[in-house]
Amino acid sequence: MSFIIAIDGPAAAGKGTLARRIAETYGFHHLDTGLTYRATAKALLDAGLPLDDEAVAEKVALELDLAGLDRTVLSRHEIGEAASKVAVMSKVRRALVLAQQRFATKEPGAVLDGRDIGTVVCPEAPVKLYVTASAEVRARRRHDEMIAAGNAADYETVLSDVKKRDERDMGRADSPLKPAEDAHLLDTSEMSIEAAFQAARHLIDAALKRN
Ligand code: C5P
Repeated sequence: MSFIIAIDGPAAAGKGTLARRIAETYGFHHLDTGLTYRATAKALLDAGLPLDDEAVAEKVALELDLAGLDRTVLSRHEIGEAASKVAVMSKVRRALVLAQQRFATKEPGAVLDGRDIGTVVCPEAPVKLYVTASAEVRARRRHDEMIAAGNAADYETVLSDVKKRDERDMGRADSPLKPAEDAHLLDTSEMSIEAAFQAARHLIDAALKRN
């Protein structure tokens, strides 16, 4: 059986960086499940289709090829916003969750990061991490990334978008963002990504020994 590491948390908390680093260290496969929602939203936008037609969006989600997800193309801010709208529809979630669960069976192990991995996609995962940070710290990081990439960014606008996205992700009826009961909380507001990684490593090594 594959060893699954579930990582959840709000946007820009550092879970993607942490997930990639863990996957590299342990030689596990990695899936950023946000990209599956982003790719579905982008396909709808590109085809000029509405973001709120559940049957149409489900069809697009069912046809998604996980092998073709391109982070550079999908990382745009507007696509993230569109993704969180598409992600409220249950039929879209069901289609994407099935694909994510198939991915999670890859040997020798898989790291999945998202919003509902520990609660819905892989509730049996032996390691569950919930990575969070204050909205202000997350907005500052996102803002600095945008500036570093040569894009214009206004901190107040980024902060307001971060808060809106949190509300949408935590407030939706189907699979809202929340820590699983048995998740380990990592608050990166005042913790470096290195310290978060070391804490995660400790938990993973202990779980691997038990397995
Ligand atoms: O993590 P990322 O910003 O790429 O995710 C984009 C959006 O996709 C999130 O705001 C969320 O609404 C949705 N999502 C989700 N469940 C996941 C991963 C992402 O609902 N497991």
